[in-house]
Amino acid sequence: MLDSTKIEAKMIIDLRSDTVTQPTLEMKEVMLNAPLGDDVFGDDPSINELEAYAADLFGMEAAVFCPSGTMTNQIAIKVHSNAPGELICDELSHVYKYEGGGVGFNSGLATHLLKGQQGRLTAAQIEAAIQPDDPHFPETQLVSLENTCNKGGGTIYDIEELKKIRILCKERGLKLHLDGARVFNALVESDYTALDLGAQFDSISVCLSKGLGAPVGSVLLGTRHSIKKARRIRKLFGGGMRQAGSLAAAATFALKNNIERLRDDHTKAKILEKTLEQCRYVKNVLPVYTNIVVFEVQDDVLHSDVIEKLNQENIRTVAFGPQQIRLVTHLDFTENMLERTVHLLQNIY
Ligand SMILES: *Cc1c(COP(=O)(O)O)cnc(C)c1O
Repeated sequence: MLDSTKIEAKMIIDLRSDTVTQPTLEMKEVMLNAPLGDDVFGDDPSINELEAYAADLFGMEAAVFCPSGTMTNQIAIKVHSNAPGELICDELSHVYKYEGGGVGFNSGLATHLLKGQQGRLTAAQIEAAIQPDDPHFPETQLVSLENTCNKGGGTIYDIEELKKIRILCKERGLKLHLDGARVFNALVESDYTALDLGAQFDSISVCLSKGLGAPVGSVLLGTRHSIKKARRIRKLFGGGMRQAGSLAAAATFALKNNIERLRDDHTKAKILEKTLEQCRYVKNVLPVYTNIVVFEVQDDVLHSDVIEKLNQENIRTVAFGPQQIRLVTHLDFTENMLERTVHLLQNIY
C-alpha cells in the first residue's frame, strides 16, 4: 500500500503565480474537439466565438485574441497613442515594471509615473499630472489603470473613482485603458459588473491564463474601429496565430466555468494572510483583497532563506521586492495543499 504521508511530502505546491495551473481533463476535451481555422484570415470559429463572448461580457463592440497579456497591453497603448507623447500610470503598473520597457520601445511614449494607493490612482492625481499645452512637455495621450493591481497586493478599484477618471479623460481628450489581467478577481469581490467596467474604458485587456485557468492567451476588448487597428498591430508584433482555436476554446470554457470559483482562491488567500500574521519571522502582511498574498519578513531574516526553506518543502514562492515574498492562490491549489502550506509556514522557523 502507498504511504500517503510520502505522497504529501512529494506534492509540489506552486504558489509563484496563478499562471501555473494545468488544464483539467474536461478543458482538454474541449480543446481536442475545438473547430479550427486560420485566424489570420479570420477563419477560426473557436477564436471568433471567444472574441464575441468576451466582448459581450463587458458590453464592448469587439475583441482580439492574443498570445499574452503583455501583448494586449502593448497593442492597446499603441492603438491609443501617437508618438511623441506620454502615458500616465501608477509606478507599480505591470505596463511599466514588467513589460520590458515596451511603452518606450513599441509606442515611443514617455511613461509618467504616479504614486497611487497600493497601485490605484485617483482622478485628482491624474488631473494634476496632465501636462500643460506647452511644447516643452510630452503631450499626455492616455492613462492605463490596473484592476486588480498585482504589485499593490491584488487591490480593487472603486467604481465611483473609475467613473470620475472616465469623465476626466473624456473632458481632456485622453484614452483610458484597463489592464484587467485579473479583472474577474476584482469583479467577484465588488458591487459592480463586467458591463459597468466595460462602460468606463476605451479598451480592456483580460488574461485567460491567470486565475481563470486556461493555458494560454489574453483578449483585448474595444470598439470595432480600435480592434481593427489592434489586429494590424498584432500582426506587426508577430502575434497573428493560425489554427489556435484549441487555446481559445479552453479560454471560452474558462470564462463559462471558472469565474465564480475565484472566490475559493480568495478564501484560501485570506487563510494564508491570517497564518502569516501569526508567524514570528513575518514583519508585515499586506491586506489581502483577492488571491495575492504579499508579506515582508523581519529585518533579521533573509527573505531568500524563507523562500529556500519553503522550496525545500516543495512550496514554490517568489521574491517580490526587498524583504517581500508573494504567494498567489489558484485553481490547482487544493484544500490539502492549503493545510500543508499553513502547517509549514507555521513551522519553518
Ligand atoms: C500577468 C499580467 C499581465 C500579462 O502577463 P503575460 O504573462 O504577458 O500574459 C499583465 N498585467 C498584469 C497586472 C499581470 O499580472
